[in-house]
Amino acid sequence: MSKEMYDAIVIGAGGMGSATAYHLAKSGAKTLLLEQFHRGHTFGSSHGDTRIIRLVYEKQFYTELMKSAYAEWRALESVSGKALMFVTGSVLITPDGHEYSTSIRASLEAAGIESEWWSPKQLASRFPQFRIDKNQSVLWQKDTGFLHASECVLTHLQLAEGHGAEVREQTAVTGIDWERDVPEVITEGGRLRAKKIVVTAGAWAKQLLSKLNLPLTVTRQQIVYYRPTDASLFQPDRFPIFIDVTWDEFFYGFPVFGREGVKVARHGKGQVVSPNTCNRTPDAEYIDHLRAFLKERIPDAAGEALYAQVCLYTETPDEDFIIDAHPDCPDVLIATGFSGHGFKFCSLVGRILSEMVREGQTRFDINPFRLDRFGEHL
Ligand SMILES: Cc1cc2nc3c(=O)[nH]c(=O)nc-3n(C[C@H](O)[C@H](O)[C@H](O)COP(=O)(O)OP(=O)(O)OC[C@H]3O[C@@H](n4cnc5c(N)ncnc54)[C@H](O)[C@@H]3O)c2cc1C
Repeated sequence: MSKEMYDAIVIGAGGMGSATAYHLAKSGAKTLLLEQFHRGHTFGSSHGDTRIIRLVYEKQFYTELMKSAYAEWRALESVSGKALMFVTGSVLITPDGHEYSTSIRASLEAAGIESEWWSPKQLASRFPQFRIDKNQSVLWQKDTGFLHASECVLTHLQLAEGHGAEVREQTAVTGIDWERDVPEVITEGGRLRAKKIVVTAGAWAKQLLSKLNLPLTVTRQQIVYYRPTDASLFQPDRFPIFIDVTWDEFFYGFPVFGREGVKVARHGKGQVVSPNTCNRTPDAEYIDHLRAFLKERIPDAAGEALYAQVCLYTETPDEDFIIDAHPDCPDVLIATGFSGHGFKFCSLVGRILSEMVREGQTRFDINPFRLDRFGEHL
């Protein structure tokens, strides 16, 4: 066994683990980050060009946390000198009086965040790319945008290394042994010791912590890029983030960024899979279904599918995150179950976990993410 003792070992170099390693290393902690694949791989949840960042949430505690997450992303841009966050505003399109948009509006108001109801006419004058019916409503929120996702992960990793963190790729953790004075991480290459262990293993967290029986379901999700009739109509300064629930499904999309085409996806309804055996080839049916939606809503974006990709959600029963200490060992911290909406929080989750490692607590309200809410499952 290596005699080396780390302040913290972080397991998993996705969005959460890379941000955690950065905050830990920056604060002077001797940090080791272990990743089973290579950095930037496409088997987990954090790869790809874009992720939505928004204050728009039904649950106000997310909106409150997002105020801090925005500040963290801006700080990351500032220290790295890279543009990582692009604010475009968002339109949320729902049937008139829909519970989803009215509760989001209430949550934003309670958090003191501006939003506006737009008439179909207002939408047409601001974003003529959309076609909507008279009985549909539009909620505009100006602070929404997107993060350059894969670049955010790489930036956190590079900065973590710049602060002295060691990042070991192609190193799978096969177990964690906390029944010792100092907890140990088990890898094929041997055991590694750390005062604290942080599990940010995404879709693999359940198998790594199998004794805990975490109530996590891994689902297969797909994103598709469609060729627009005129790409200039869909640049980030002319086209916003959109979310649309009018088909009783949750569609969302982005301006053109990172690669040719307008990126569109359906949130949720993914097939339950294992992260180890998941089919990574996108479904033709899904691609056609999204194009049918685009033909109705954004006809100029409903061209040929240029590129599609599979990605994983790790879902909890209530779709709220898990950020907590292991019930049997306070030195093992767990952050998973980001339920398809966690990326925008990476920068903040990194800070939160770093505080928990160093100080045993965080100043942010993570009560909604406690493990004991699943009492009967664990
Ligand atoms: C299609 C799609 C669209 C999304 N859209 C949005 C969005 O618009 N906005 C938003 O906020 N969020 C969005 N999300 C959710 C967000 O991307 C995830 O919540 C977030 O990326 C989760 O990050 P993670 O670090 O927990 O997981 P991952 O990125 O999967 O990282 C976990 C890492 O741990 C490694 N690992 C696992 N087990 C081990 C082990 N035993 N040993 C070593 N390494 C291990 C894995 O290889 C992996 O690299 C989306 C997700 C998907 C799939």
